[in-house]
Amino acid sequence: MTTQTLELGKFSIGVGDRFAHQAKAQLEACIEAAHAGVEIIPVWNKSNREHNIIGSEPSSTRAAADAAVKALHWGKPYFCDADHINLTTVDRFLAPCDFYTIDVAETIGKPADSAAIDKFLKRRSDLTGTLRLEGVREPLEITPDLLNLTAKKFLFAVQEAGKVYRHIEAAKGKGTFVAEVSMDETDAAQTPAELLIILAAIADEGIPVQTIAPKFTGRFNKGVDYVGNVDQFRREIILDVAAIAWATANLGLPKNLKLSIHSGSDKFSIYAAIHEATKHSGVHLKTAGTTWLEEIIGLAEAGGDGLALAKEIYAEAFAHREELCAPYATVIDIDPAKLPAPAAVDKWTSQQFTSALRHDPHSPAYNPSLRQLLHVGFKVAAKMGDKYIRLLESNEKVIAKNVTENLYERHIGPVFLGKPSPVAVLAHAEAK
Ligand SMILES: [Zn+2]
Repeated sequence: MTTQTLELGKFSIGVGDRFAHQAKAQLEACIEAAHAGVEIIPVWNKSNREHNIIGSEPSSTRAAADAAVKALHWGKPYFCDADHINLTTVDRFLAPCDFYTIDVAETIGKPADSAAIDKFLKRRSDLTGTLRLEGVREPLEITPDLLNLTAKKFLFAVQEAGKVYRHIEAAKGKGTFVAEVSMDETDAAQTPAELLIILAAIADEGIPVQTIAPKFTGRFNKGVDYVGNVDQFRREIILDVAAIAWATANLGLPKNLKLSIHSGSDKFSIYAAIHEATKHSGVHLKTAGTTWLEEIIGLAEAGGDGLALAKEIYAEAFAHREELCAPYATVIDIDPAKLPAPAAVDKWTSQQFTSALRHDPHSPAYNPSLRQLLHVGFKVAAKMGDKYIRLLESNEKVIAKNVTENLYERHIGPVFLGKPSPVAVLAHAEAK
């Protein structure tokens, strides 16, 4: 008997659908990409934290994805991602999901037992020296010191990932799901050399990892552009991709192993670099909250009750900003002085509200602080319950248009199709 392994395609996009109402609009963006000649596999991701804040169950994400796929006759694969799970949170995702983002960031830095470290160092001593990677001029230098330090810092985390992986495998069966290992929610970026050593440990642990999410250099704030050194990012991602190619060729990891870029939405400044580095290897771009913001934009654009609700959500988010921001402190940068007073926002037209919120770097009215506050403000809408959902439903058309257009034009175009990103367009216009 041959068992077929469930494989993630070359290009995939993680989409978040906090209130489980936009799956069709999101899938439309993948359908548009298919029409443009590129297959992009949709992956609906929702973390345990989001489910807890909203009060939803992972089965609802699965139901919404299945319904969208059926309604739009999507015949290619699609996945539901248990995003950022660990041993304590994975169980309720076992039945509905077929993609697991195993998050071990919290255990980075905890040392494995010394016998395990010694065994790893012995087994992998051949990694030390100068490693020439295909397609890049810059070699990777791995000194015995670096191997040692990286083992001490990451081996325990990889062992943890192994425990989570085997727990899922025992429940679901080998080859029936995609495994990702994520280390992005931590302070220090991992270098390409560290990534390669981590992949060796993952191979030793027997995890058939298909996507790996390192922390990259720079800040990946929620829903806004990249903040950091774009040239350094470009160098790093090219080396990461080459390190992964080396690992798949030499360590027995799955051939389709590729990078996963978390908080990947709206990082317009680095989309050209991501496209260039990953157009042959493939990439998973994980977006989430950008769709929820399009719901607010659609409501505001609709005017009437929709605009009133968008204003109400802003006012509530403004009033509770400290509490809403706390869980996201490391991934947002809000300038409180730039947040307009709710009384002023209350007088805004649809046009004023949408142009402050919509991520259009051309627009002088675009306000990244307001955008980030609303990004973390989905709890406010969750508390409104039916009132919010009813307006989503009665304004489905205008919201869906915004959701699809945002994913296709601002994300899929520049990352997967190599079209200029909104920032590049701006730089071009300024140069004229
Ligand atoms: Zn993440």
